[in-house]
Amino acid sequence: MQIGDLIRRAGKQFGSAPALIDGGRVVSFAEFDALTDRLGHALLARGLDAGDRVAVLMPNGIDGVVVYYALAKAGLVRVPLNVRETVHEHAYKVEDSQARALVYAGDPPAHVEVMITADQLPDLIADAPDGPCDVRRDQDAPLRLAYTGGTTGKPKAVVLTTRSELAEVANFLVDLLPNLRPDSVMLHAAPITHGSGAFFLPHLVKGAPNVIVSKFSPGAFLKAAQKYRATSTFMVPTMIAMLLEDTATAAADLALERLCYGGAPIATSVLQRGIDILGPVFTQLYGQAEAPLAITCLQPWEHTPDRLTSAGKPYTFVEVQVRSTAGTVLGPGEVGEVLTRGPHTMSRYWRRPEATAETIEPDGWLHTGDIGRWDDDGYLHLLDRRHDVIISGGFNVYPREVEDALLTHPAVIEAAVVGLPDDKWGERVAAAVVTRSAAEPDEILEFCADRLAGFKRPRSLEIWPNIPTSPVGKSLRREVRDRMVAAARA
Ligand code: AMP
Repeated sequence: MQIGDLIRRAGKQFGSAPALIDGGRVVSFAEFDALTDRLGHALLARGLDAGDRVAVLMPNGIDGVVVYYALAKAGLVRVPLNVRETVHEHAYKVEDSQARALVYAGDPPAHVEVMITADQLPDLIADAPDGPCDVRRDQDAPLRLAYTGGTTGKPKAVVLTTRSELAEVANFLVDLLPNLRPDSVMLHAAPITHGSGAFFLPHLVKGAPNVIVSKFSPGAFLKAAQKYRATSTFMVPTMIAMLLEDTATAAADLALERLCYGGAPIATSVLQRGIDILGPVFTQLYGQAEAPLAITCLQPWEHTPDRLTSAGKPYTFVEVQVRSTAGTVLGPGEVGEVLTRGPHTMSRYWRRPEATAETIEPDGWLHTGDIGRWDDDGYLHLLDRRHDVIISGGFNVYPREVEDALLTHPAVIEAAVVGLPDDKWGERVAAAVVTRSAAEPDEILEFCADRLAGFKRPRSLEIWPNIPTSPVGKSLRREVRDRMVAAARA
């Protein structure tokens, strides 16, 4: 099976029903099938061959989605670029992926053989022949390259295949969205190039429309969610915090069944308020570019007060282990690295055989680089990224654990914990927090003191207006650390 087959079948089964809605524009299932066929033909007519990479720099919207799936039908490999990144980052990715074509809105970040502007798309589509565009490729051939967040080192591209994409759709349908039907509605409030994009196909195959909000704000989200009676959505934790700060949220008449979130740790105080205001709709997903969005999930009914810091249980068809540095499989309570295996994982890193060999074991187990532990009930608790671990006086301190303790203070809404160089201890623990009401650093430290062993307690705490985050909402601890080091030198 190919991705195009899913689109073709949805076109036949759901015909004139709305498949995509963006502001005033509505595209039916049959139209979406036809548009992607035509654009697929047009791309091939520009001299591109199956397997060529095509970088796509388009804002959140219908045209971007049409481009994505036209590429799949034409056997071309999609390289999505995040509009919120800089021109240098885009240029690097175009070069690293060896893209032969670039489809872009705005200024081009690079020049490659085939350049197509967003403005040219309507004419390209209008002039292309009708009929199926169906370049069939091996299920293990690259379908798309996803660049990882890049919070450390140069971004690497993860190679995802048709097999991994189909597995991701299946995982979502089994565990996250088991009740999808034609009157379900997905609201994309986050960039479709990232987490939210994974919700597109599951809804499409079940005849449910995908509604796109081109730019997130709590107001825009609430308006669209009420107008279209949205049943599913995806947010990163920062968006949830923003939504809950808006007083209109509690009063809104929403039809949400699933508010999926993930991609970064969430503050338990935010999550609890969210449940109080929006009800039992929260579904957490833990995944990564290398194992797209499906390692573990925490279901709405599992969001009990004692579990809010957990990332949930493995998806039904995904294997998960916690292993020691020596490679022993660990049981409940023991801290180690999280590994996962399943058809949804990446096949390799693009042009980085050494990184691939370090990450994927010969028997398919993938090292996530996340540190975690199981609890007695089989729930996974994530402690941290392997390389963010602070070593103070020979003890490992997991910043996440310290951040969680800080986040239990009612005034704290965001926290970043880092290790600063220290003559005596090697590293010492330092924190920056964002507060929603007045609070004194000493009082916050005092509050969390009994939740943390002495060596884990921050030696200093600063209140910042915001914590620097990456374009996809991950807190950039490295930047927090750099700022603190620079301030100490000044
Ligand atoms: P990326 O590959 O850029 O999507 O980043 C994936 C990383 O984000 C994971 O390896 C985790 O460190 C973190 N992450 C993803 N989902 C969660 C979650 N639900 N809770 C905590 N951290 C998460």
